[in-house]
Amino acid sequence: MVVLSTKKRNLLVCLLLVALVASGSILATDYFDDRICLPPIGNETPKVPPITALCYHEVTPARPKDIYNVPPDQFRSHIRQFREQGCHFIDLQDIEEYVKYHKPLPEKPVLIAFDDGYKDNYTYAFPILKEERAKASFFVVSHSIGAKNRMTVSDLKEMAAAGFKIGSHTVNHETLTGMSDKQLDYEFKTSRDELQKLLGIRIYCIAYPCGFANDRVMKEAKKYYDFAFISSVVPNRPQTLFNINRYGVFNWNTRVASIFRQTVFK
Ligand SMILES: [Zn+2]
Repeated sequence: MVVLSTKKRNLLVCLLLVALVASGSILATDYFDDRICLPPIGNETPKVPPITALCYHEVTPARPKDIYNVPPDQFRSHIRQFREQGCHFIDLQDIEEYVKYHKPLPEKPVLIAFDDGYKDNYTYAFPILKEERAKASFFVVSHSIGAKNRMTVSDLKEMAAAGFKIGSHTVNHETLTGMSDKQLDYEFKTSRDELQKLLGIRIYCIAYPCGFANDRVMKEAKKYYDFAFISSVVPNRPQTLFNINRYGVFNWNTRVASIFRQTVFK
């Protein structure tokens, strides 16, 4: 056995640590690059946009331990990390134009989307997005507008006027898969009509509450929307325009690469 002096041993440990950190960051970058542009899975609908879509919920300095809350500094850091990787932020309108008019998307397109319409989206995320000049889209529950801890009509109007895009997240935020056709029709049509009336904008996209949708739900959504999102990534099911996958973003995702390591199987 070779006996090393303390100095040499410390040097060896340092070198080993440097090598470990370097290989770790190379692996992380490779992984990130592989998954940053989520390609359409299967060929069911060739029109499925080849985008990386993200699903955020809250952005508040309160409750840093809430898994659905990405605190403001962390959210700003996400925007910067994506930019450092050469990503371009897109919104619902960019997807609409891609789907309907074949308008090309930018390289490495990333959709930042928020579900549920929390007040902190307006208070914290909105100013950060403006400062960072990043596009984003917000899925709101029509009967929750103006409720406690939710955005008001005036908040949403201000965001829409600043160029941010709004989509439907149904009327009542209930799981859709067990509903009758009549109930589904109400959740889809009424939320679209109410949002259009309240905000004076066209609503053409929906995110299913809780991320669930079956064939019947998707068929009903097609009557009122041009495309729809689930809130997870399901590798074994082909994506269509009515189940576009999104990666959930959680409080433990300090580095954006980690977002792509948590595929949810449903
Ligand atoms: Zn939701």
